[in-house]
Amino acid sequence: MAKYQYLKLKHLIIGVALVAFLITLVSSLWSGYRVNVNTLKENSLETNRVYAQKLAETANAYLEESFQILGYSAETIAEEMDDKQVLIEETERIKMQNEMFNLVMITNADGLVLSVSPPSIEVQGELLTSEGATEALAQKVPLVSKPYEGITGRLLIFISHPIFNDAGQYVGLIGGTIYLKEENVFNKLLGKHYYDDGSYVYVVDEDGRIIYHEDTTRINDKAIENKVVQAVVAGNSGAQQIVNTKGVEMLAGYSAIPLPKWGVVSQRPLEVALRPSMDHVKNMIFVAMPLLIFCLVSVLWAATRIARPLQQLATFTEESLDAKNVNSLESVSGWYYEASSLKGALVRSLSFLQGQVSFFKDQSKTDPLTGVTNRRTMDALLAEWAEQKIPHSIILLDLDHFKSVNDTYGHAVGDKVLKFLAENMQAVARNGDICCRYGGEEFILLLPETTATEAEIVAEQLRETLANTLSPCGRAVTLSAGVAEYPLMTDTTEGLIEAADVALYHAKQVGRNRVIVAGQEQTQNQ
Ligand code: GH3
Ligand code: MG
Ligand code: MG
Repeated sequence: MAKYQYLKLKHLIIGVALVAFLITLVSSLWSGYRVNVNTLKENSLETNRVYAQKLAETANAYLEESFQILGYSAETIAEEMDDKQVLIEETERIKMQNEMFNLVMITNADGLVLSVSPPSIEVQGELLTSEGATEALAQKVPLVSKPYEGITGRLLIFISHPIFNDAGQYVGLIGGTIYLKEENVFNKLLGKHYYDDGSYVYVVDEDGRIIYHEDTTRINDKAIENKVVQAVVAGNSGAQQIVNTKGVEMLAGYSAIPLPKWGVVSQRPLEVALRPSMDHVKNMIFVAMPLLIFCLVSVLWAATRIARPLQQLATFTEESLDAKNVNSLESVSGWYYEASSLKGALVRSLSFLQGQVSFFKDQSKTDPLTGVTNRRTMDALLAEWAEQKIPHSIILLDLDHFKSVNDTYGHAVGDKVLKFLAENMQAVARNGDICCRYGGEEFILLLPETTATEAEIVAEQLRETLANTLSPCGRAVTLSAGVAEYPLMTDTTEGLIEAADVALYHAKQVGRNRVIVAGQEQTQNQ
């Protein structure tokens, strides 16, 4: 049959506690992580939104300012369009005074360049035909152009203001170009807060074309498929999670720049934004670790304490069966209800069982009529003594003419006389001597560590007492006895009884009411 290895209660409790603890830890880590991720996401979205808004406001203010500057200049030179020197000075002044433009120029109403700064650019005297210039000349309003390639082949935007003379005639425009792929005001303005963690800012025009990007190769790309770009060119501001053109998840904030209908997008990779959340989880584990260890030690301690009484009850119950008492069971501390009830039940049932066992054991050892040791036990004792080589003597005694007691007074009285004899035997027996009923009205007194001579004295004492005491039948009864000693006279138990029997027989023969030591029959014969 297969032998099952049972799980120990202690391990069971520890296991359950461990599982519960781990579930709690994992779920709290998970929920903490989720909360943290959401917070980080929201924070990052909000940061980007605010940042985009700030940049949009700044860019708008810049453009407004540039219109003001150009507008003021247009008023100044409106009546001096024929004076080349004034125009040259004016373009130079604007170019030098603020660093907004890469190039400043003044044209007449047909688009002929009258003055340009820096002068090294060979457009002076040329007719502007580029789309930005053509549109500005046609519309005659302050204008920010779409990006286009200028005469020099550079990608640029053109910011211009019309010039009207005092008579209200359109006499030309003053404008500045910003080279999108070279150092310009946007680089300075937008690239100021540069992160090397993958966050970046870009600006799109009203068609969703990129006009500023940290990566200049992206400038002039169309990005209108991007949801955020769509939102921002529609004039909206906000923040949302998107996937960029490289397939990277991004948290983007966006804001419209109202004046030129552009938009700013500021975005940070989701992974970068969420990086602190893993640190948070690690921190939580780190913080929870001492608690975890403390809990495990406590559970270990508690489990040991819970299991101990049960284990002790099991061990001590077995021990109690051997020791035939419940002392060790009593010592178990049943400190909680179940252990205490179990202990109580075990103590009660074992005590009862042991009581029953000892009762039946006593019963099986004694003679029911007289209460002395019975024949079977006597035989066992003698065999044990012989085996252990314990020297001893026996007195085999038999009531004289007992038949006549029975016949005269009845069997019941005869029984009382037998009890009476047994009582007297026990009275003369010394400490360690054992009274036995050998059969009928024959008894044996076992005397360990006793010589035949000493035994004879005891036998004589009993004989005399009996001969001089009234028995339950109303008169004294006498006995005859044979004494034999082991191993002096014989080396077997059977031989010992045999020898005593022979001596007893002689005692009867020579007149009863006497004690004869085996081997001394002849001296008693006369
Ligand atoms: P003797 O002196 O030769 O021993 O004579 P006796 O009459 O005692 O002879 P024996 O020892 O042979 O007799 C035994 C008698 O003891 C026979 C029986 O009636 C009686 N007896 C044996 N057992 C009991 C008992 O348990 N109760 C009673 N009342 N009598 C018993
Ligand atoms: Mg007899
Ligand atoms: Mg007899």
